[in-house]
Amino acid sequence: MNIKEEERRARLLKSRAERLPDIKKQFEEAQKRNFNSNFGPGGKDENLVAKPATKKAAKAAKKAAKPAKETAKSKAKTEAEQRKVNLSVSTKKGEMVHHQRMLSQDVNAQATQHIIGVPVNKSRYNGYNGEQITNAKLKNMRPDPESVRIIPIGGVGEFGIGKNMTVIEYKSEMIVVDMGVLFAGEDYPGVNYMIPDIKYLEDNISKVKAICFTHEHLDHIGACRHLLPTFNPYTPFYGTDFTIGMIEKQMSELEDVPELNYVKVDPFRHEQIKMSENLSVEFIHTLHSIPGNTAIVVRTPNGVIYLSVDWRHEERPMGIQTDYERIDEIVAKEGIDLMLNESTNIDSPGKHPHSEYDVGENLGKVMDHYANGRVIISCFSSQISRIELVLKEAAARGRKVAFSGFSMINNVEVALRAKSIKVPKDTIVKMEDIIKLPDEKVCIVCTGSQGELNAVLNRMVTGAHKYIKIKSTDTIVFSSNPIPGNEPHVVNTVDGLLREGAQVIQNGKTHLTNIGPLHLSGHAYYEDHVEFVTRIHPTNYVPYHGEFYMLEHNAEMAENVLGIPHDRILVADDGDIIELTPEKTIRKCGRIHVGNKLYDDADQPVHEAVVKDRIHISREGIFVIVLTLNKKTGHLMKTPDIVSRAFIYLDNSEELIGKIRHYLRQKTDKSISTDPEMKVLKEEIKEDITHILFDATGHTPIVIPVINKV
Ligand SMILES: [Zn+2]
Ligand SMILES: [Zn+2]
Repeated sequence: MNIKEEERRARLLKSRAERLPDIKKQFEEAQKRNFNSNFGPGGKDENLVAKPATKKAAKAAKKAAKPAKETAKSKAKTEAEQRKVNLSVSTKKGEMVHHQRMLSQDVNAQATQHIIGVPVNKSRYNGYNGEQITNAKLKNMRPDPESVRIIPIGGVGEFGIGKNMTVIEYKSEMIVVDMGVLFAGEDYPGVNYMIPDIKYLEDNISKVKAICFTHEHLDHIGACRHLLPTFNPYTPFYGTDFTIGMIEKQMSELEDVPELNYVKVDPFRHEQIKMSENLSVEFIHTLHSIPGNTAIVVRTPNGVIYLSVDWRHEERPMGIQTDYERIDEIVAKEGIDLMLNESTNIDSPGKHPHSEYDVGENLGKVMDHYANGRVIISCFSSQISRIELVLKEAAARGRKVAFSGFSMINNVEVALRAKSIKVPKDTIVKMEDIIKLPDEKVCIVCTGSQGELNAVLNRMVTGAHKYIKIKSTDTIVFSSNPIPGNEPHVVNTVDGLLREGAQVIQNGKTHLTNIGPLHLSGHAYYEDHVEFVTRIHPTNYVPYHGEFYMLEHNAEMAENVLGIPHDRILVADDGDIIELTPEKTIRKCGRIHVGNKLYDDADQPVHEAVVKDRIHISREGIFVIVLTLNKKTGHLMKTPDIVSRAFIYLDNSEELIGKIRHYLRQKTDKSISTDPEMKVLKEEIKEDITHILFDATGHTPIVIPVINKV
């Protein structure tokens, strides 16, 4: 072992030794309080443990009603049977039908997983004692006209984090909080994002008194371009400088830029903005991973509602600490009757173990260590504090910084205008200028940390970037974590970088590089929640901003650890109406229409049926037959044209194609000429061909017969 290696090992061991007590301490802290158990009295699994289910019950369940007998098939000989052609297949038609049914079930499940009727929710926090609510029961519910209604239109129980939108309603007054997008996963071919269906607001448009935006993240403002023009142009849109700046930027990209009523708020003024006769809103400054972030306090005739929105806690924050003073004041003087608390990182144990400053220092260490090459830092474009730290660290080392990526440049511009970022003198240069500098003077901040195919980082790898091609002396830092689902893409990008011989440093892999942490999540961890909810001391509690398991875990924390009574906690779904009654209790009372609108990457709407076809085609392909028939006799005039896409390669399938041609000749042997007959013939051909193809390949592509009559 050489000296350098020995030093490196010693350093590693030392840093591990330094970290260990911290981790141990967090663990011990967690052990001190009540075990978050569902087995305790009143807990989810209490009955399961105390009284194990008897075999009797299981037997009773098995005695399900027998399936109804199939109705007898019509025996009548039809014309169709007379036209029947021997398909010479070995599989039964039933097998094909079964395959088609399974396929369409899969396709439906994939394409409609976000479409909400009455979702399954038998959580014991569902507000109905764990029983599934039905349309029939919903119809019989009597809303309390004096209650304040809280309705998540999006953002709870989604497949992913996004589409955040909440309505607070009292009599004929409504306030909307946020209008976000949800980025579609690969389950949705050709769909880039979805936005909430706001039919409920459209039907009540005159009641909408104000729309409040809590911060600039796209899961909170991304739907503005589609939704804002829907509202009365006098409707005020509230938000902090930076948030409104980004919304304006988004709207300015539209062809017809609408004139809208933006109102900038300063959360440090603690202003109670009267939105309507009975509702007022106060914006509260809280920490997140972005400037101008706020929580929202809504004062209603039935009490005070605290919407946490996105937040994290830091002991040593960059910028101004969460306005705990104001929060404590409201809690002490008025009390919080209902808290809606975000759930994103509820599954992350402990607290945030480091601060944004540590990230900055570590980025500086990377620049020192790889002093002779270019340093390329990839992070989320909205991470303005991170970018500020990069600028500081780079300036201290005489490096210049260039930004690359559309959203990155947009964010920096808006942050500069809103004075949300401090920039050292003469540090930022344009991309086209930075390439003229020697490598050791270069730092680039770019998008692509999620492995997005068309983002800057990947273009640098493939050589498609206008100015930069990755070389072996480059060091690339992933100052981010992959969003769940993006991992394979990130791996792809990392592989590409490594193949070019570059150094890659990812957050969360300190054991490989001895540098880290390089990222700080914008959302509170479990212990942060325990502390903060204790501080708020809410009478009622509704977890939101999360997938279903996050909401459930958040609710369990509230009950089992914090002792909030079970009947004061609700796990809601998009569309559920939550009533805050004059007695300051909460209950669910009915549902409104909710759903999704899908959009592609050109911001054009995509219909659900199109998505289903795309999924079907991607799995089974498409098969088109063009028949030219005599107008009078219905006989085949020439050899049918056959087109196969995403299914089989025709040149390799002569036998099968021959069989199909033979079938088509036989099928068109009998004279037919009327339109209804033609229609029937088309259907029969479709079914028969599907069967022949299934017999040969085990797949059922979309078969499209086209009949031309000449
Ligand atoms: Zn956020
Ligand atoms: Zn969010």
